[in-house]
Amino acid sequence: MAFGGKLPVKLLMGAAQVASMTWPVASALFPEKLEVDDNQALWVRQSPPYTPGEPLRGTIDVDLAIIGGGFTGVSTAYHFSRRFPEKRVALLEAKSLANGASGRNGGMLLNWLSDHTGYSDDMLAKVYHMTSQGIQMIVDIIKEHNLDVSYRLDGTLHTYTDPARAEAAHAETEHLNTLGIPEKYLDSAALREKLNVQGVYGAVLDPGTGQINGAQLVRGLRPVLVAGGVAIYEGTPVLKVREGSTITLTTPEGEVRAKAIMLATNGYTGKLGYFQDAVFPLHSHVFATAPLTAEQQAALGWHAFAGYSDDLDRISYSVVTREGNIVFGGGSNQSYAYLFKNRTAYPGTPDSAPRSFTRMRDTMTQYFPQTPGLPIQHRWTGTLGITLRRNWLLGVRGEHRNVYYSVGYCGHGVTLANVAGKIITQMISGDDDAYRGLPFYQASYGRIPPEPFRWMGYQFFTRLTGKSPRA
Ligand SMILES: Cc1cc2nc3c(=O)[nH]c(=O)nc-3n(C[C@H](O)[C@H](O)[C@H](O)COP(=O)(O)OP(=O)(O)OC[C@H]3O[C@@H](n4cnc5c(N)ncnc54)[C@H](O)[C@@H]3O)c2cc1C
Repeated sequence: MAFGGKLPVKLLMGAAQVASMTWPVASALFPEKLEVDDNQALWVRQSPPYTPGEPLRGTIDVDLAIIGGGFTGVSTAYHFSRRFPEKRVALLEAKSLANGASGRNGGMLLNWLSDHTGYSDDMLAKVYHMTSQGIQMIVDIIKEHNLDVSYRLDGTLHTYTDPARAEAAHAETEHLNTLGIPEKYLDSAALREKLNVQGVYGAVLDPGTGQINGAQLVRGLRPVLVAGGVAIYEGTPVLKVREGSTITLTTPEGEVRAKAIMLATNGYTGKLGYFQDAVFPLHSHVFATAPLTAEQQAALGWHAFAGYSDDLDRISYSVVTREGNIVFGGGSNQSYAYLFKNRTAYPGTPDSAPRSFTRMRDTMTQYFPQTPGLPIQHRWTGTLGITLRRNWLLGVRGEHRNVYYSVGYCGHGVTLANVAGKIITQMISGDDDAYRGLPFYQASYGRIPPEPFRWMGYQFFTRLTGKSPRA
């Protein structure tokens, strides 16, 4: 998601000017070195050592079986067990909690769904309200349970590299303000106070958004769930689902009989036989630097805000953690891989995608010319769940209306997947009126063609349009 071949000339010129102006300082601040570890995300590296729980052995009967231990699964277990303390809940995770995208993302804690083009004013206000409340809920949970989760909420930017797009964003922001949405347009002078990158004509600041360590959140909630009566089985992939008024789940060493199940498997969902024509897995690469000092951050032109994404066809996104690491993702179509036949093979080592990381590093260098010397320490890959229309799907299905699901966040799930558990719980309680009619609720979806057309379509779309699948 970034410059690719379409980097605006002005932005390149700006970058070159910044390079020549700041490089003597930068080279002293950022000695050239590249120390890269294995495929572990920064978020896991910064979490305490974690020992996954025992797998399921034998047969259990539960009211709700949740498949998947990321934000969606853990938030469902959290809200459901609090709302229905008397019910039996099991969470089954193939590997360990936060193994998927929730422990491997870019860390941006954002408002909105992945796209809100064409919404009515009423819908804009409802969706923004829902996600901003969701961010507040995440913070409240962290505080209530005294979780050791690193996050910052000093705002994120969406930057504009074209004057006409910047002006349109300015007008839209003023309109959103009339709906009570507190986004703020920054012209290029105001923007330089936060992000000093030339060639960017303006930005929209969303003040209540930020950055969070997802692995710390998901794993930190484990003891809270266990105390609330949730049985958590890790190293327990669900191999087969047999639907009925009682659903049977088969695992390598056991079986679950459940009155209802929750699919919390996002990009992996097709493997269970669900949403094969709706959600496809996309492997996405990210890297992070070692912690930078305040002086180093200032030399980059990054001042007191959590993260940004840009408006280019191949969007770049980046955050600075509270500890000072720069995390960078997107920036080119090489940042993503769709593997033939929906392969969700858990990511290999970063060495299996050296060209992707080189290309992403080049993009980051175009933005921040000082980066040739940045100490990149972590590279990792995660699995996104993408839908054709890039819309999140949440609801209930099945002949017995007992298969709940929330999938297809399209790279925008850090807030949404945490909200999902609350919405599903309200849906089960029959208390979900507030969500009916929202774009994700029992939404229809565009059908993705079968292979080999799917693979070919992906290649055509990304290569011919130059757009990121996650744009
Ligand atoms: C590289 C990357 C960058 C991203 N950046 C951002 C960002 O900056 N901001 C943002 O909002 N969103 C971002 N996202 C998206 C966001 O992280 C996801 O939308 C969100 O984490 C989805 O959570 P989840 O719990 O639904 O899925 P996951 O976290 O993927 O969890 C699914 C879990 O299910 C388990 N599982 C799979 N199959 C089975 C099975 N058969 N049985 C049992 N368990 C199973 C997996 O092991 C996994 O742990 C990013 C994603 C990636 C990959």
